[in-house]
Amino acid sequence: MTAKTITIVGGGLAGLTLGIGLRQQGVPVTVWEAGHYPRHRVCGEFISGHGQETLSRLGLRELLERAGAVSASTAAFSSATKSAPPRSLPARAICLSRFTMDHALAVEFRRFGGELLEDQRRRDGDYDEGVVRATGRRAQAQENGMRWFGLKVHARNVALTADLEMHVSPRGYVGLCRVDRGAVNVCGLFRRRAGEDNTSQNWRECLRGQTGSPLQQRLAGAEFDESTFCAVAGISLRPQRATARAECCVGDAITMIPPVTGNGMSMAFESAGIAVEPLAAWSRGEISWAETRATLAHRCDAAFARRLAWATWLQRMMLAPSLQNVLVRFMSHSEWFWRTAFERTR
Ligand SMILES: Cc1cc2nc3c(=O)[nH]c(=O)nc-3n(C[C@H](O)[C@H](O)[C@H](O)COP(=O)(O)OP(=O)(O)OC[C@H]3O[C@@H](n4cnc5c(N)ncnc54)[C@H](O)[C@@H]3O)c2cc1C
Repeated sequence: MTAKTITIVGGGLAGLTLGIGLRQQGVPVTVWEAGHYPRHRVCGEFISGHGQETLSRLGLRELLERAGAVSASTAAFSSATKSAPPRSLPARAICLSRFTMDHALAVEFRRFGGELLEDQRRRDGDYDEGVVRATGRRAQAQENGMRWFGLKVHARNVALTADLEMHVSPRGYVGLCRVDRGAVNVCGLFRRRAGEDNTSQNWRECLRGQTGSPLQQRLAGAEFDESTFCAVAGISLRPQRATARAECCVGDAITMIPPVTGNGMSMAFESAGIAVEPLAAWSRGEISWAETRATLAHRCDAAFARRLAWATWLQRMMLAPSLQNVLVRFMSHSEWFWRTAFERTR
């Protein structure tokens, strides 16, 4: 029997990783991508968690290292008024721009014989047998009366005190980390009340932080590369279950984890890794599509449910103004708190 083709809608990290994994099993794969490569994305570009094991298993970690991935082993937290000294990360992370990473994965997918259709947006609702949804986060205008939005730019002339700096404020948080090409990623997630006017504040002011804050001091001499700037709105951070989705999904199309964890890309890689075996079995005609979908969804939920709950709790604490200084103190003084927060959210 000839192998049946898998169609993947979305050529982001989850879609391309899945495509490569399936091609390695000899499965015919077509990926539809609405955009093209290379392109900048709103992302902290900090990869932390078990997804790195998936990358190694598929031989992709080396690819990303060759592409210029930077290793990260320390992190430091600051509130609008206090800074904690850097701490070692309990497990190493890697940092690579999405501009470089998505392009490298697209080239690798094609090298393995995958068919990649760029600038091709697939109609929504087209999820029959053999079609996987890897379209990324699902836009939602507001959540609990709040609108979430993300901003990203690369900068030069920024001296970091740790490989990852996380700056929290009542409006959101901004992460700073070194990426490839000698740039520093400056990426923030912010919220505002639905209906609140924010036209007076531009993206530079949002990213630079409050007057006198450690973030503002850190970025005092920063030169932003405007060509790398991007923004995204309509972010939903309420955890969802793969088993509740009607389609066969991987990555953010299942659910988003709060970006403060630096684990969203890891979940994209992990879910793609989980999906390879059941989808390859369907392609060979060994199991039905319903069985494939259920197996994949149950495995993803088993892998992600606990960390999603912890991440939601952590983000809530980080955004509560009265708890921000306490959190920064705990992160710097309690090894137990630091390890627990790190390990439970990945
Ligand atoms: C502010 C912010 C900061 C973040 N920081 C980090 C971080 O530091 N570390 C981390 O691990 N994660 C971070 N994330 C999360 C991370 O970016 C995502 O988890 C990751 O991109 C998910 O990958 P994906 O492949 O599921 O989706 P995406 O990377 O979004 O890819 C989806 C792709 O599908 C395509 N597409 C969509 N619809 C269609 C269609 N109909 N037809 C064809 N193509 C389509 C899109 O063009 C896109 O290329 C952050 C997110 C935000 C918002």
